[in-house]
Amino acid sequence: MKFGGTSVANVDRIRNVAKRSLETTKLGHDVVVIVSAMAGETNRLLGLAHQFGELPDAREMDALAATGEQVTSALTALAIHQLGGKAVSLLGHQVRVLTDSAYTKARIKTIDDTAIRTVLKQGAIAVIAGFQGVDDKGNITTLGRGGSDTSAVAIAAAIDADVCEIFTDVDGVYTTDPNVAPAARKIAKISYEEMLELASLGAKVLQIRSVEIAMKYGVRVHVRSSFDHSEGTIVTSEAGMNDLEQLTVAGVAYDKNEAKLTMRGVVDQPGVVAKIFGALADANISVDMIIQNVGATAEGAAGGTTDVTFTVGKADLARAKAVISQKGAEVGMKELRVDDDVVKVSIVGMGMRSHAGIAAKMFQILATEGINIQAISTSEIKVSCLIAAKYTELAVRALHTGFGLDKPAA
Ligand code: ASP
Ligand code: MG
Repeated sequence: MKFGGTSVANVDRIRNVAKRSLETTKLGHDVVVIVSAMAGETNRLLGLAHQFGELPDAREMDALAATGEQVTSALTALAIHQLGGKAVSLLGHQVRVLTDSAYTKARIKTIDDTAIRTVLKQGAIAVIAGFQGVDDKGNITTLGRGGSDTSAVAIAAAIDADVCEIFTDVDGVYTTDPNVAPAARKIAKISYEEMLELASLGAKVLQIRSVEIAMKYGVRVHVRSSFDHSEGTIVTSEAGMNDLEQLTVAGVAYDKNEAKLTMRGVVDQPGVVAKIFGALADANISVDMIIQNVGATAEGAAGGTTDVTFTVGKADLARAKAVISQKGAEVGMKELRVDDDVVKVSIVGMGMRSHAGIAAKMFQILATEGINIQAISTSEIKVSCLIAAKYTELAVRALHTGFGLDKPAA
């Protein structure tokens, strides 16, 4: 049972976590609880570190950030004691969540289940501080923002848990953002692959890496509300879903975090695109969508000029502009155009693998709304279109309705 920051935001909520975990033990289960820091606490701690310089030392940042979860794990154990239950808190290094030494974004290597099992054998609840681990030299590490989801799923895998329940402030995964499309529905069951796409498209309910680990080890994940007992969303393998549960399109996502760059009139010859994207890679800038137009000469022949359009994260835009302005000259670029008033809308669904025409239908829905498509990218189970940001709501709602995802009118 993993409880996020809002679920442990104050003493009353921590009491609620204690109650909820004890209820679960009373149903006959062994319970391991993973906690995040109190909502806002990690930001507060990182803010404190930044009082001592713009680039504080990463090792000390992790030593500091890990304290947020140390507090909530101990408080949760105390809350369980007060309700008459048994509980023992464990920090990352006490469990031995062994990670690499990449401070602030460490990866888990192994998890020792001995300490956890010892606590369970005593009939107690193990309350584990999420987000933190230890490297092989004993340094404290953290797993990246939102990392307690990853702690939870990895620990669930290590102890072969029946289920990894992720308790949060929403009651599940939705077909789209309910703030944008009020007709959004809670999804009862979703596959790992779909969840992975939705998480990478910005659905914040689960950290991406936690979904990767769940998929790799087959951990059944149940996303649910810590404030009520409603059924949430089960994230599971495709095999765990019946046909009725498999919609062609499971969800619609949007991401306002990308910016578009267009290089006009670059030379159309071998090696040009390699040069441009090599320079971006050297600067550690990830590129998402890419389109290169047909060259101005005869089909496929080298020698003319062409336009190359691509998107990067908004946070990387200034650096990308600098790189391209410099490299552009080498490939004969005539002009660089930048547009950060764009949004990427995507549809995600396993059914795309077996149904033709899903992308065409998406384009038609956008066309009917008079929305121009500026770039397209696809994967096996996803189609994304870049459009003007002002059409975000219109596009999301139209796609949601068009693919039959709207909840029945009340
Ligand atoms: N407390 C950490 C964070 O805010 C980890 C987590 O909450 O999952 O990112
Ligand atoms: Mg979280």
